[in-house]
Amino acid sequence: MEIIKDIARLRERIREVKKKGLSIGFVPTMGYLHEGHLSLMKTAKKENDFMAISIFVNPLQFGAGEDFEEYPRDLARDEMLARSTGCDLIFSPSVKEMYPTGYGTFVEVKKLTEGLCGASRPGHFLGVTTVVTKLFNLLRPDRVYFGQKDAQQAFVLKKMVNDLNMDLEFIVLPTFREDDGLAMSSRNKYLTPEQRKEAAVLYKSLKQARKLAVEGERNVEVIKKVISDIISEAGHAQIEYIEIVDTQNLRSLHMLKGECLIALAVKFGQTRLIDNIILEV
Ligand code: AMP
Repeated sequence: MEIIKDIARLRERIREVKKKGLSIGFVPTMGYLHEGHLSLMKTAKKENDFMAISIFVNPLQFGAGEDFEEYPRDLARDEMLARSTGCDLIFSPSVKEMYPTGYGTFVEVKKLTEGLCGASRPGHFLGVTTVVTKLFNLLRPDRVYFGQKDAQQAFVLKKMVNDLNMDLEFIVLPTFREDDGLAMSSRNKYLTPEQRKEAAVLYKSLKQARKLAVEGERNVEVIKKVISDIISEAGHAQIEYIEIVDTQNLRSLHMLKGECLIALAVKFGQTRLIDNIILEV
């Protein structure tokens, strides 16, 4: 496994891999790897000849006052975990390597980025789509792997790949969870033991929503109220949003119909957690 920090060396390596006719599976990450990342990496390894990841905490997708500086970083630990999955290459550039002085090109997906996290984190998805485009251009993957955990991100990137005719297969894999249901996230590290225990309410509320839908409830306001009540059982939880949207366009629904995404963002202290499920009714 090679760790590459500069673009010139990466290009050289990718050229060699392509010349051999090997397929490339790619998993972009911000590092501080956990089982969620590893599940994507293991699938990428299985489905491709060569598996690469990127570890880059992308300043462009963090807003003012967000946790760019504090975001956990531990390359030595990530290196060990990546090795255990059979990873062939880690691309871990500096901010300067990705955005040299004078950098001025951005990729924007309209509409799908307006609601949910796009509404509460202005500019976030512009940062995501820009960095992911750069990474795709650099790694030239045949297949890319993303987590359902960041559902809106997956929808937005899929749209970008389609709209810009990017020649790759876009694969979304299920959310990997802790035993109590909390979605794995590098940000879970910020939680105090008490907040960590409380955070299990997120998935508990989503499971209850699914149960109501299966039993026939279609009224979105009723389902949102049940989710909100369960989350409010946790003393430290501050709800940022609970939304139920159509997966076709991420627009809010009044009644459940077709494939629906139930997504939420909740803060525990300063820590912002997201989770979601998809329902088919
Ligand atoms: P991040 O490092 O948080 O930017 O995540 C990198 C990739 O891993 C993204 O595609 C995420 O959706 C995915 N990911 C993060 N957490 C999980 C999880 N718990 N289960 C599955 N995929 C995840």
